[in-house]
Amino acid sequence: MELLKKKIMEVGRVEAGGVLKVDSFLNHQLDIELLNEVGKEFKKRFEGKKVTKILTAEVSGIAIAVLAGQYFNVPVVFAKKTESKNLDKDTFQGEVYSYTKEKHYKIRVSKRYLDSSDHVLIIDDFLANGQALLGLKQIVDEAKAQLVGAGIVIEKGFQKGGQLAKEANIHVESLAIISSMEDGKISFKEPSQE
Ligand code: 5GP
Repeated sequence: MELLKKKIMEVGRVEAGGVLKVDSFLNHQLDIELLNEVGKEFKKRFEGKKVTKILTAEVSGIAIAVLAGQYFNVPVVFAKKTESKNLDKDTFQGEVYSYTKEKHYKIRVSKRYLDSSDHVLIIDDFLANGQALLGLKQIVDEAKAQLVGAGIVIEKGFQKGGQLAKEANIHVESLAIISSMEDGKISFKEPSQE
């Protein structure tokens, strides 16, 4: 998606540990106009597919999922990362390993909001090592729902998430695929390689 790649080139900052900072439009401040276009593009990429629910993880996935949800016209469910009194006790759970925090954590969705009749599209901000995506897939599988695919805003193509998703048979549509961030220089995969 050219508009997105342009924005990443303009404001993206490469930080230590291969982290791309895009706080000015995706992870802290939100560029609604751009994210609205992102939502539209996801609709285009999954055109003709039956989707009854969009699933994401809090916090960064929510805004993107909501904007996409308008075009799919379906509810958005976000998996919660913390156990709280507000969350129903009966939940589907996924396990996620965070490479940055070096620990496992659970994500949970109440059984009220997902069931075996659902066709689920996962939406997330980044695909890096694929752990968040696999954790969300676990929730879909536990609910015995159909996984339609995953819409990702930025895939770091030099990390193993894309490969893991392929091995898990997940149809991934990434709107920008970064092939390298060496020496702070961001390069994208050519559309023909995507
Ligand atoms: P995973 O490694 O499980 O694919 O990525 C997990 C989560 O870490 C993503 O959903 C995203 O929130 C965050 N993440 C991974 N890599 C980056 C990055 O380079 N920049 C930012 N801002 N977040 C990232």
